Amino acid sequence: MYFPNFFFCGIYFLYLLNDWTFKREKIADWLWWLSKNELFYLAGDCKKDGDCCCRLDLYHNQQLVDTQEKYDELVKSNYTYKRFVPAHTSNKKIAYFNCILLKNGTCQDYSRRPAVCKNFPFSYFLKHSKLPSVCGYTIELKKLNFKIRNKSLQNRIQNMLYLEQERKKSAK
Ligand code: SF4
Ligand code: SF4
Repeated sequence: MYFPNFFFCGIYFLYLLNDWTFKREKIADWLWWLSKNELFYLAGDCKKDGDCCCRLDLYHNQQLVDTQEKYDELVKSNYTYKRFVPAHTSNKKIAYFNCILLKNGTCQDYSRRPAVCKNFPFSYFLKHSKLPSVCGYTIELKKLNFKIRNKSLQNRIQNMLYLEQERKKSAK
């Protein structure tokens, strides 16, 4: 059972304030991002299919690593990221990364895997409000001991749960 803590009450209040006054989508997005950790948890288990080790995005200083320069900077700050091989598009941008340490669906360096791997899939969920289509984890709403009365926040929650249901059905 989830009881609203001081942090969530503050988020909720700001959410209402934004709805009544500024109506800024960016503020609502940011508050939604903060509230996801309070309202949801991940259940299920890893299928150990290595899906998240292929075609992955990397971020450095909160920016998408999409050029060789940014990638070099990332590796300079943390050499363990050298394991990720960039896939370049024709305009020299990096489209995504593949990890060289994935062999037959298994990580060859599991105990020393970098933070980007350890935080997956929760980091992905926080960023995209969903999980990769084939992921074995699921997004679940915590048992709330209070009713969320704000319509736009209710809609965001319902929308995310609906998309998660659809994802689960198609993953079967
Ligand atoms: S280090 Fe391991 S967990 Fe991380 S992407 Fe590579 S194979 Fe996957
Ligand atoms: S995509 Fe999900 S189920 Fe597949 S390896 Fe990654 S965490 Fe595990």
